[in-house]
Amino acid sequence: MYQVIARKFRPKTFKEMKGQEALVSTLKNALRLNRLPYAYLFSGPKGTGKTSVARLLAKALNCAQRTDEYEPCNRCASCLEIQNGTSLDVLEIDGASNRGIDDIRKINETVSFSALSGRYKIYLIDEVHMLTKEAFNALLKTLEEPPEKVKFLFATTEPHKVLPTILSRCQRFQLKRISLEHILDKLRGIVKELDVQVEEGALQLIAKKADGGLRDAESLLDQILNFQDGAITARLVEEMLGAPSKESLFKLDQALQAADEASLHMIAKSVYDSGLDLSYYLEALIDHFRSHLLFKFRAEGPLSLPKEESEFYQKLQGGYSKGGLIAIIDELLAAQQKARAHPVSLTSLEQLFYKMMRLFHLESIGSVIKRLSELERKLGGAPVAPKIPQPIPAPPKPTPTAEITIDPTPSKEDLVGIKPAKKAMPAKPAEIKPQPKAPEKSPTPPISPAGMRPMDAKTETLLQFAAIELEGKITKK
Ligand SMILES: [Zn+2]
Repeated sequence: MYQVIARKFRPKTFKEMKGQEALVSTLKNALRLNRLPYAYLFSGPKGTGKTSVARLLAKALNCAQRTDEYEPCNRCASCLEIQNGTSLDVLEIDGASNRGIDDIRKINETVSFSALSGRYKIYLIDEVHMLTKEAFNALLKTLEEPPEKVKFLFATTEPHKVLPTILSRCQRFQLKRISLEHILDKLRGIVKELDVQVEEGALQLIAKKADGGLRDAESLLDQILNFQDGAITARLVEEMLGAPSKESLFKLDQALQAADEASLHMIAKSVYDSGLDLSYYLEALIDHFRSHLLFKFRAEGPLSLPKEESEFYQKLQGGYSKGGLIAIIDELLAAQQKARAHPVSLTSLEQLFYKMMRLFHLESIGSVIKRLSELERKLGGAPVAPKIPQPIPAPPKPTPTAEITIDPTPSKEDLVGIKPAKKAMPAKPAEIKPQPKAPEKSPTPPISPAGMRPMDAKTETLLQFAAIELEGKITKK
């Protein structure tokens, strides 16, 4: 009989509960010391093994031949019945579909009948937060005076929705998101046991997409195996997930770095036409630029990427600055937020690319100040009047050595009167206060090129305002 992977490879022992070691050892200890509360609440993100661990506990509680390591034997009648869902002593209830007071009343009516096996009567309520308030209250009555040999095992993704009076009667266990490595391990084991050919890169994509939920990873693998008989390649998984190919992402990098608007337009159109899930595409972009950033932080390839990809990331490193990458990721995160409310259109995708291009080519305020200062130095030192704020003398014509192009050239008036901004001022420069009569010297002069006196505070202020005004107008060549 065909069984879905998640079910077929459900952990049969506590030892198989990968990534939840602390929780498992607490449970085993309780079994060893026979300190068993009436009610347990397992909470955690979806697919992390809440019901699996609850079932294991149920098995271990009722097992006739528990092992020395407090594991269920998986051979006795009780274990097998629980495994097949036919046990009369272990009742699994889905809180989402049996959420009313009548459902709980039924539990309350049966609770006093002792277990057929003579061991525990166990109620496993999944998604317990879905119960109605009345149902909770009915349940509370039983929890307040639980009959001997009855255990309640609750599982929920949203413990905050469970009534506090219920919570206070439960021993609580929090399941962790499962690490990428653990998920990968499990997937590798499954693939081996099923004897199917799946590329490691494909498994990595599946594990990544599952985002800490093992069940999601297993379901995805199931879906992909059903889709294709032959070997499963990373590219196939990318396509199924709606992920863009690395090749197309690197093309985007090149277009951004070259400020090639025509290419950006083409890429946006082909992504849109391909029918990719655009919210997933945005996620892939975020991941991609995050990889760039990680490469930036550590010169050597920090990621477990195929060699070819690593080389590509290395090669494109020079083109991006840390600040630029952070700004681009910010923009993408904002776009992702928006995409939740409105589907991504071709125009919004194009706009996003153009914005990213602008962010990439924008100079930071800091570097504009630095360049202006350099310019000033090259011009032989600005005449700095002690009292009256003076503009930085604009070069009569752009000197060939100057590396910037200014468009439009700011008028002197723009720079003389300290009128911080005609446009809305960015929040950041608020800390730059004009100091009308600033005799005090900044402890470290901002620049003091050799042979030139340090700038005084006024000049510095002016330069900063100039930089703010000019930001966005000065672009890399
Ligand atoms: Zn057993």
